[in-house]
Amino acid sequence: MPDGFVTPKRSIRNVDGLIDAGLVPEAARVGLEAVAVQYAIAIPPALQKLITTPDDPIGLQFIPDAAELSVAPHESGDPVADEALSPVPGIVHRYPDRALLKPLLACPVYCRFCFRREQVGPDGGVLGEAELEVAYGYIAAHPEIREVILTGGDPLILSPRRLRAILDRLSAIAHVEVLRIHTRVPVADPGLMTDELAEALDISTPLFVALHTNHAREITEAVRVGLQKLQRRGIPILGQTVLLAGVNDSEAVLGDLFRAMLRARVKPYYLHQLDAAPGTARFHVAPERGREILANLRGRISGTALPTYIYDRPGGLGKIPL
Ligand SMILES: *Cc1c(COP(=O)(O)O)cnc(C)c1O
Ligand code: SF4
Repeated sequence: MPDGFVTPKRSIRNVDGLIDAGLVPEAARVGLEAVAVQYAIAIPPALQKLITTPDDPIGLQFIPDAAELSVAPHESGDPVADEALSPVPGIVHRYPDRALLKPLLACPVYCRFCFRREQVGPDGGVLGEAELEVAYGYIAAHPEIREVILTGGDPLILSPRRLRAILDRLSAIAHVEVLRIHTRVPVADPGLMTDELAEALDISTPLFVALHTNHAREITEAVRVGLQKLQRRGIPILGQTVLLAGVNDSEAVLGDLFRAMLRARVKPYYLHQLDAAPGTARFHVAPERGREILANLRGRISGTALPTYIYDRPGGLGKIPL
């Protein structure tokens, strides 16, 4: 295990683990071994516990499928053109006033529909000190950058000490007004949401956390408790959801999710149209259906519960509301 970040010890990390847990049949072994060569697998205990059957909305998101090796013609290894828009390692700069900083490429769980699936994995992709210095230098040299978004991989699996060191360096850049962290940790590994981590995030520069969650069942009591540690320190939490066939593509399921978010004091921010990453076609929902679901939800649930339905156009053209 590379150092620099923590993932739960008892996670399922390979095909043997999936078979032992009864999540896939022995007959699927050969096909899934081929998938595992290409795409990382991890299902942490907190999410394993939520899977009742392999094809339920939790299982579908995280259990690999042989269909992942069927690449549709329109699918791309870098659907949002992160690579093309990366001036220095770890930075993606597409919109003038915002830059992404990816301090690592490991996650606590690997989502089968991930738009960065060709990049993320347990090898870590952790930026070294020298690379971080170059990244800080790039941000410091671009006064138009007002917001730095830490993403990855998942920044919250870094040790609190390491994370704080990054946040301190970014806060010290005068034109950086706001920081944001994109994460799945509060859902994937609620045990990581310690007071120590919350203290590391409690800095004077306004910090927003954007939580990736796709189904109401992911938001357990343990998740709410973890989020409260941040909220009590004045850190607002936004919700990001990917619209996924079989997982959340109905009025009832999305409505339940958005209300569950509000109960956890999470403001639904974006509902993402799926990006065309390789082998993800089984999750595709037509944009017309997405629009219809949101239109039907308007009036049925609180306006505060409704996110913006957004599509990140291929080739680095940026996000547009649908
Ligand atoms: C999505 C994204 C952002 C953040 O966009 P918001 O609309 O502010 O959430 C910033 N940079 C890149 C490259 C992105 O893809
Ligand atoms: S947590 Fe985010 S970056 Fe990691 S695999 Fe899931 S979608 Fe991709």
